Amino acid sequence: MRIVVLTGAGISAESGLRTFRAGDGLWEEHRLEDVATPEAYASDPSLVHRFYNARRSATSQAQPNAAHHALAALQQQHDLTLVTQNVDDLHERAGSTQLIHMHGELAQALCASCGHRWSSPAEMDVTTTCPSCRKATARPDIVWFGEMPYHMENIWKALENAEIFAAIGTSGQVYPAAGFVQHARRNGAHCIELNIDPTAVSRDFHEHIIGPATETVPEWVKEL
Ligand code: NAD
Repeated sequence: MRIVVLTGAGISAESGLRTFRAGDGLWEEHRLEDVATPEAYASDPSLVHRFYNARRSATSQAQPNAAHHALAALQQQHDLTLVTQNVDDLHERAGSTQLIHMHGELAQALCASCGHRWSSPAEMDVTTTCPSCRKATARPDIVWFGEMPYHMENIWKALENAEIFAAIGTSGQVYPAAGFVQHARRNGAHCIELNIDPTAVSRDFHEHIIGPATETVPEWVKEL
């Protein structure tokens, strides 16, 4: 079966990584526009580096949970395109391959001057230099608000061919990911939302499985 799964911060919540829309709309005490935009990086790069250094450290201490493992197992049995909005590496550490990180990854650094990418050190700061052009313009390889998500052409194509589309632990408030359900549905996919709560786009799905991802995802994968 051809399946596209989109995951969001909710799948990593039970691994101890905080989502950002849960209560107060802050991500680890920060307003998103202060840490996750090109404007924030231009005006206070040290703060942005400190924020992502802390996210990298939290991720390295977290472990993949039963939901990450279930999706890695699903890939063994079906033609699965796994798309994540998460910047952590818990899907990879659970064994998923051919993973699309549409919003970039904490594990990668990007040179804001020449576009070179390399494995990020655990900590970056304003003196971190690009190994290619030697300028001190290293930034996390994260797609910030206002920037274009990665691999969109491949994602739209996979959605057009999908028989099943599932969105797991994502609030449906960040576009273009929030529009994937409509695209998949228009092209004939059966659409399922797995979330602990209803979301902004719940009405676009054919089916809803409500509950914590560590319980609902392994159960759903077993039924498939
Ligand atoms: P979001 O924070 O906007 O929404 C999280 C969603 O997960 C909510 O709908 C919530 O109801 C649901 N949820 C919470 N706990 C759950 C659980 N245990 N089981 C199932 N569902 C649960 O997240 P988003 O939609 O992914 O958008 C957030 C953006 O923030 C992404 O672009 C991502 O790059 C970034 N982000 C990433 C991480 C990470 O990499 N772990 C963490 C926070 C934010």
